[in-house]
Amino acid sequence: MSVKQKKQLFGTNGVRGIIGKDMTPELAHRMGMAVGTMRPGTIAIGRDTRTSGPSLVAAVTSGLLATGCTVVDCGIVPIPALQFSIRDNYDAGIMITASHNPPEYNGIKVIDADGTEMGDEEAIRLEYMIFHLDYTPATWQKMGIIRQDTGVADRYIRAIVESFPPGIGSGIKVAIDAGSGAAYQTTARILKELGSEVLTLNTQPDGTFPARNPEPDKINLMPLAELVTQVRASFGVAHDGDADRAVFVDDKGEYIEENREFALLEDAICGRNDEPGIIVTPVSTSRLADHVASRHHCSVYYTPVGSIYVARTMRSLLQDGKNVIFGGEGNGGLIYPQHQFCRDGGMTAAMMLFLVSFRKKNVSELLSDLPSSFMIKKKVHTPKTQLLMSSIVDQYCQEKTVTIDGIRIERDDSWALIRPSGTEPFVRVYVEAFHNKTAQYFWEEIQSVIKKVIPDCVIT
Ligand code: MG
Repeated sequence: MSVKQKKQLFGTNGVRGIIGKDMTPELAHRMGMAVGTMRPGTIAIGRDTRTSGPSLVAAVTSGLLATGCTVVDCGIVPIPALQFSIRDNYDAGIMITASHNPPEYNGIKVIDADGTEMGDEEAIRLEYMIFHLDYTPATWQKMGIIRQDTGVADRYIRAIVESFPPGIGSGIKVAIDAGSGAAYQTTARILKELGSEVLTLNTQPDGTFPARNPEPDKINLMPLAELVTQVRASFGVAHDGDADRAVFVDDKGEYIEENREFALLEDAICGRNDEPGIIVTPVSTSRLADHVASRHHCSVYYTPVGSIYVARTMRSLLQDGKNVIFGGEGNGGLIYPQHQFCRDGGMTAAMMLFLVSFRKKNVSELLSDLPSSFMIKKKVHTPKTQLLMSSIVDQYCQEKTVTIDGIRIERDDSWALIRPSGTEPFVRVYVEAFHNKTAQYFWEEIQSVIKKVIPDCVIT
């Protein structure tokens, strides 16, 4: 069993649950006690706009104070802004957010001193402390205190704006949908300070998410697409609840599938670098990443699925002297190592502006420079996931494969990933090819192997 699968409370993205059921102030308090025991010092806390945020912040704060920590309340901020401040100013941090989940959810993410999310081994230690009430309370003389930091968003915005030549947005019109989430005060300012004209939707912070759910998917982005076409913007950008992801519509109001977004921005970053570099991404990302990398004599380095694996791999490759220039996931969560080692929605919006300004082409034209690709995504429901995985590995072991998280089979004209869920009884299958029929044939081939091993599985 992998370390990833040994975690009980923590999923791929921290601890998350429905308010009043599996996410409660009691759990938040215990998290605060455990984090305060494990990471004594000055701890920054931020949150997204959810209605349950203040209650969970108070509960986590109580636990941290009781273990002697200084708590720095940063208010409502995007998670990348909090991570940026933690890296520069604090010993650790906690973000209260459920990211893209609906308003009834909330969650807790622990950030380490370097601004990355806590790794697996540490998360398992933290879980042990929470389950066994294994804390070190402070004496009355050592109780913690609360401070405020109202400058987190400002410092983040300034750092992004200063990463680009002044005025790159001049003459470029952009539409933004902040989704009433944590980006309500940041992305519009970033793009305006870079010189662009900005039109906004849903920039009032509201944890009931009245206009759309925090997931920035194609359907939820229809009003943004309409605004883009009405005002003839160069592109539209939208975020999830904590604004670590950015997704786009192009100048024609067409939703940009996130793997294509990855490839588009990868192209801009590879083109901006003089030396060929390394792009880090999970095994689930489209081969478009590889296609763009080879255009620029760059290479792709695969990690297990999950942004912390991408971020930590990027950091360790850089420490080994490798030229890591870009990374992230094929879901709009992109990482810029010269800025910081976490997914960053505000930086991604600015990078799209840079791309349009630098290439002097419409986003739709830039997209048409990428080959078309077809991805099939399936779930195979069965309790016998281990049997299924070992049969698949046996079947395909003669081919070129990557086996760091499930098995990725690489063929000249296509690839497939077969990967068990960490928490539930199903196996995910992704198949992608540059031609629709090739993808379809490959999927049928994999399906027949699956059906031979587990005839009663359910495929959705
Ligand atoms: Mg998020």
